Amino acid sequence: LAGAAGLVDDLVGDLAPGWDRTGLIPDEVLRALAARGLLCPAVPAAFGGLGASSLANGEFTAHVGSRCSSLRSVMTSQGMAAWTIQRLGTAQQHEDYLPELAGGRLAAVAFSEPEAGSDLAAMTTTIEPDGDDVVIRGQKVWTTAAHYADMIVVVGRHGSGAAAVVVPASAEGVTVRRVPQPSGCRAAGHADVRLDDVRLPARAVLGGGQPLMLLVTTALAYGRISVAWGCVGILRACLDAARGHARARRQFGRPLARHQLVGRHLANLLIAEQTATRVCEHASRCWDGGSPDMVVATVLAKQVSAVQAAQGAAAAVQILGSAAAHEGHVVERAYRDAKLMELIEGSTEICQMILADHAVSMAA
Ligand code: FAD
Repeated sequence: LAGAAGLVDDLVGDLAPGWDRTGLIPDEVLRALAARGLLCPAVPAAFGGLGASSLANGEFTAHVGSRCSSLRSVMTSQGMAAWTIQRLGTAQQHEDYLPELAGGRLAAVAFSEPEAGSDLAAMTTTIEPDGDDVVIRGQKVWTTAAHYADMIVVVGRHGSGAAAVVVPASAEGVTVRRVPQPSGCRAAGHADVRLDDVRLPARAVLGGGQPLMLLVTTALAYGRISVAWGCVGILRACLDAARGHARARRQFGRPLARHQLVGRHLANLLIAEQTATRVCEHASRCWDGGSPDMVVATVLAKQVSAVQAAQGAAAAVQILGSAAAHEGHVVERAYRDAKLMELIEGSTEICQMILADHAVSMAA
């Protein structure tokens, strides 16, 4: 990933507030990163990817997240699609899809439905075998990056279990409709995806017949660690902006930073950034070491980082005062973006329930 952060800095420059306002990241920016494999850096070199460790991928994801959470969201979706294919696909499917994702094509992952949000077991989308084909029917909502995607990995019911299926966005029967004016990550290309009798060759099906929640947990693991690192990036951007402002801005005859109550906000922001970084590093080391603790460490990282990012961004707004009350300011965007991180990839409450189950099952 040498040079990758610099490339992101060059491509994003001071454009992120404009992307947030228009709700669009220019196609050439996404394609420039995608063509270099930088939206899914963990894809193994054998498939044309960068083969980045989870730790290296995480630090890069945090950097992208510090510049633009919408771009980081697109990166999370691309990485989650690649991870899902890697985990559920056959050797032939790895050959078919991973080089495409590492080489410039864009992907999204669709689980959520109108009546299946936190409760993904309630999903009703079906992937029905029909001769050498499958037929997909259903309605997905809030699919990040679907507006930009060339292919959408759709999760649905398959026989008595579940499967994912790689659906070209251009396939007959696919309708992608953008979510109008999301409150945060506004340029992440969130869209609702309708699947009306979409017919595809059966070779597009990944992991057919698995238990639904096992499949969902596998795919979501990547999304969670990626969002967690993205939240570290939000916290770093907030800390930078808040400490710069608190040093430069004077009130009551001294810098804001020298007022103890402002100093307390700064201390809390530093604690948030450091705490989130450490839990993410721990989770990534579990990924890189193939530890059985990986799933729980990932949920913990997502939970801690998302909550800290939402609280930290609120503290940063407080430190900047009216300076953060301009639409598009880095801290104002962080405040809107961070709150959404508490809702997705397993909301705060869902992560707490998973961690509670873990706590109960731990050996005394
Ligand atoms: P609900 O499930 O209706 O929950 C509402 C509230 O109730 C939440 O606070 C929740 O924590 C709480 N709650 C629910 N059940 C319980 C319970 N048993 N105990 C305690 N509290 C509970 N989906 C995709 O498939 N792909 C994507 O790429 C994607 N990207 C997204 C990006 C954004 C910005 C957003 C906002 C959503 C995205 N989603 C995506 C959908 C997202 O995964 C869901 O919004 C999320 O799972 C929560 O579902 P819900 O919004 O229907 O809320």
